[in-house]
Amino acid sequence: MELMRQSGQLLGLTLAEVEKAIQPGRSTAEINALAEKIILEHGGIPAFKGYLGFPAATCITINEEVVHGIPGERIIAEGDLVTVDCGVSLNGMITDSAITVGAGKLSAENQKLLCTAEKALLKAVEIARPGIRTSEISKIIEKTVRKEGFGIVEDLTGHGVGFELHEDPYIFNFFNGKPGPLLQIGMTLAIEPIITAGSPKTKTLADKWTIVTKDGRAAVQVEHTIAITKKGCEILTKRPK
Ligand code: MG
Ligand code: MG
Repeated sequence: MELMRQSGQLLGLTLAEVEKAIQPGRSTAEINALAEKIILEHGGIPAFKGYLGFPAATCITINEEVVHGIPGERIIAEGDLVTVDCGVSLNGMITDSAITVGAGKLSAENQKLLCTAEKALLKAVEIARPGIRTSEISKIIEKTVRKEGFGIVEDLTGHGVGFELHEDPYIFNFFNGKPGPLLQIGMTLAIEPIITAGSPKTKTLADKWTIVTKDGRAAVQVEHTIAITKKGCEILTKRPK
């Protein structure tokens, strides 16, 4: 658990710096390079780089891009919704976290989309504790998102994390009719609402990585790695203020 905490601290620190760097005019490659530099400087390994052949330390997705975007030449523009998803391996333990940041001023709808994803994650964290089932987390995320009329991408889910980037159990962002396993002390989980302004239908681009919404409307992903504790849970990837 202490090693997971250290891994999460490095990831939180990395994403806090990334958050400040997301400004109109910067390329996604620059943002990725910053994240990679911070991770390496602190003795970590970017957990995404080389994972199933993924070429970068971060996945960066803008607006209609949902997840798994490859950082590159794209320049961040005023009003863009920029998601940076990142994984850190430190002393053998892996944590996974994502932030979505508005570059400059967001449209009212995109602001609401972002706030809703953050609220859903927060509510999930608030109820996570030993003895509840993973479906309780799924249900509270779904309720929070549906209330605002936004879409939930069904085939992208949270997951166990720690020794590997993706471990059991899946943490769905909607109730799929199954109770799911009981949460137990010491479990470490990545919870990650992935929601859309319009239809949740997606397609994969020709680069075989980037998933975008079919209708071209915006998507948001926010994610923390948490640890189930005696009393509830601890956010391991908290960003320093
Ligand atoms: Mg992630
Ligand atoms: Mg994840």
